[in-house]
Amino acid sequence: VRVLLTGGNGFLASHILDLLLARGHSVVTTVRSHEKAEQIRERYPYTSTTHLEVILVPDFTSPGAFDECFKSDALFDVVMHTASPFRYSITDIQQELLDPAIIGTIALLRAAQKNAPSIQKVIVTSSFASIINSYKANCWVDHIYSEEDWNPIIPSDAHLNPLNGYRASKTFAERACWEFHKRENPPFSLVTLCPTLMFGPVIHPLCNLDELNTSNQRIRNFMAGEYKAEMPDTGTSFFLWIDVRDAAMAHIKAMETSGVVNERFLLTAGYFCNKEICEVIREFFPEYRPQLPEQGAGGGGYPNKGLYGFDNSRATNKLGLTYRTLSASITDTVMSLQKLQTWD
Ligand code: NDP
Repeated sequence: VRVLLTGGNGFLASHILDLLLARGHSVVTTVRSHEKAEQIRERYPYTSTTHLEVILVPDFTSPGAFDECFKSDALFDVVMHTASPFRYSITDIQQELLDPAIIGTIALLRAAQKNAPSIQKVIVTSSFASIINSYKANCWVDHIYSEEDWNPIIPSDAHLNPLNGYRASKTFAERACWEFHKRENPPFSLVTLCPTLMFGPVIHPLCNLDELNTSNQRIRNFMAGEYKAEMPDTGTSFFLWIDVRDAAMAHIKAMETSGVVNERFLLTAGYFCNKEICEVIREFFPEYRPQLPEQGAGGGGYPNKGLYGFDNSRATNKLGLTYRTLSASITDTVMSLQKLQTWD
């Protein structure tokens, strides 16, 4: 299968790229700079350009941004759109979060429709951010989240803070995809995947740990002693997680399973809290014990009132997804961060 993968240098996309190449698919991937293109090529020194091509798409919001991708002679069968800003340290929510996510996604769908009649499926990485109800946060105890749920966040609230901005960027981008698909009736099917918070080994190129992707930062912070005085609440984000390798596999299964069309999937292995992450690090990495909050210290647990439920049966059954344990995921993440620290 010939795949167009956006943002091939990202935390999740690097795992997807590894899997695609290992399974014999051929990939054209986009990045935003020459440096990142070179870093990807260096990761696969023995892969020919017929199997891996890296293309520069510096700005998703500029007109004709994706034209370059469709100039190659080889026809794409599948598009996987993973690239989207996931950062909270931003100053302009519209320009840095909403526009690249929403305009970028629709521009890619339009370009696919216009230039590549061979495309059979477009798979878009959305997020649990587009499922969770931003107004109920973690308190909706009697609710079971599933693919039926949509975050009801309204555009004006997107601008209140970066967390809202990010959640709105994912919600509006995914909604725009489904609206486009319904309105335009393109020749390809659409699948959206909604992963919960992803932990897991970092295999993507980073110049230093300050560039670490957002969802792994709390693990780095535990290792660096930043939570020693006080364990932070888990509740500023979700209490649901998945290992990045399992989320990457979901993208592959969504692509390879012919019956998977025009559906959205909630991806989660289950609940986690900061205290559990801390205890995994304490148990398996004694060298970090001095940096961690005291054993038995308060904070970082589950809310006393209980939590919402979740239903991940669609991904489990239709994608045949299996899930790594939190302990395995955190252990592998810590080991990968240790390797990065040595060349910091
Ligand atoms: P990363 O930050 O590691 O990767 C994001 C990718 O998107 C990078 O290739 C990045 O390029 C690209 N990107 C960021 N901003 C822009 C922009 N303005 N224009 C074009 N490209 C951009 O994040 P993840 O791998 O964690 O995220 C991948 C996808 O998964 C995203 O769609 C995210 O929303 C989603 N997701 C992530 C979760 C998580 O916990 N990590 C949970 C649920 C969903 P560059 O390197 O040049 O910045």
